Amino acid sequence: MNTNDTDIALALGPCADYEFDLVELSERTLAPDRAPRVQQHLAHCARCRAYLAELSALDAALAATLPAPQLQADFDARLAQRIAALQRTPDRASAMAAAEREHEQLLRALGRELDWRAVLNATALGTVIGGALLALNSIAPRLLQANDLVPAGFSAAATYSLVLAAAFVVTGLGFARRSAGGSLLRSVG
Ligand SMILES: [Zn+2]
Repeated sequence: MNTNDTDIALALGPCADYEFDLVELSERTLAPDRAPRVQQHLAHCARCRAYLAELSALDAALAATLPAPQLQADFDARLAQRIAALQRTPDRASAMAAAEREHEQLLRALGRELDWRAVLNATALGTVIGGALLALNSIAPRLLQANDLVPAGFSAAATYSLVLAAAFVVTGLGFARRSAGGSLLRSVG
């Protein structure tokens, strides 16, 4: 068959009954029980021979032209690393335990901070009250005396003590009423 005949055969195309068989034959996927019949037909049919030759040439050209898909050089190493990482992934239970430990540490740290704040508040409050009482202790009796507020028969110190006691009662009642709304420390701090 010369080139002209081949062109004609290609132009006519393969026999419709054999077209898929020929494609499978060129791809080496033709079922073995079909192969003898296709080979028999090829022996007599120039069109199908031309078509098969063209398919084979096309395959060869594609194989030579297209870059073969290649794995990157370190693919195996990276795959092994990922598999190892997956195997190291902590199970759910130990992940939960770790999260719980973290949570407890956070709560403890927070608790310490709150304790310290309460201590500082109490210290500040005590200092203010103590300072006020000391100041009162030293000046109040003299103030009472200077303003003629000391009743007859009472010493200035005794009068001051009574006034102080009355002040404590009033303040105590005030705090008792407040306690429903919140602690003294919170109202101060
Ligand atoms: Zn044919």
